[in-house]
Amino acid sequence: MSDEKNGRLRRLRVYWLTYIINSSKQHHCKGRDMQISGIDLQVYTLPIINSNMFVLVAEHNALIIDPLTNEQILKYIEDKDVKDIKIILTHEHFDHISGVNYLRECALNSGAECTVYAGVRCADSLPFPERNLSRYFEALFITKTEAERRIAAEIFDSNYHCEADVRVTDGYELKWNDLNLMFRETPGHSPGSICVEFYNDKDELVSLATGDSLVQGNKVITRIPGGSKGDYQEITRPYLESFGPDILVLPGHGSVSYMRELELG
Ligand SMILES: [Zn+2]
Ligand SMILES: [Zn+2]
Repeated sequence: MSDEKNGRLRRLRVYWLTYIINSSKQHHCKGRDMQISGIDLQVYTLPIINSNMFVLVAEHNALIIDPLTNEQILKYIEDKDVKDIKIILTHEHFDHISGVNYLRECALNSGAECTVYAGVRCADSLPFPERNLSRYFEALFITKTEAERRIAAEIFDSNYHCEADVRVTDGYELKWNDLNLMFRETPGHSPGSICVEFYNDKDELVSLATGDSLVQGNKVITRIPGGSKGDYQEITRPYLESFGPDILVLPGHGSVSYMRELELG
């Protein structure tokens, strides 16, 4: 393996292991009112890597952020007789996109519509395992136990690729039931990173999905392929600093938290 490739793998390993360790230390907010504007918020977590999938269902419509492959979610969607699935990808990394093809197939089998929204640069990277980083995930687990490696082998596909249907730019708006969503480009962790602002029917900002641009207990990671500390400092950090303390943050890893409980990295 070349020095360059070795170095890249080392940095990726540090990146994910940091998330795994910090995420597993965190308490989960059981008993907290997990709703956005009166709609129940479901959170599912990918084993080992602890990335979050968020699911909202209302009036036979599902809104899913960063999909995982998960049978429970399939059952939940079937029970709610979902007819339309909107998937939002916060960025192009494998741990946030691994359920796209699975959910497309589920939608096809149940006759539901399925639309995938992603930032332009995220959408550009999704079809390529080297750019969505699925190519490198397996290498992260070579030092793990046999049992963990077995789980990892089931979850991770080193050739994973998928596609977006709608390529969103900064300021793109989407109405979903009584919520209005606003997409913001937040590069730094990756070129295609976005945050999604949730506004209620009174046009009040209530929640923010941040992907890996803001994760509790972690400095934002920019030292990976496509990352940019400069973009994070100039664009994304000032943007994140502009939010009030009572905004509910849906992070890419770890617990759902209020902005007042988080520290910017
Ligand atoms: Zn990431
Ligand atoms: Zn992640």
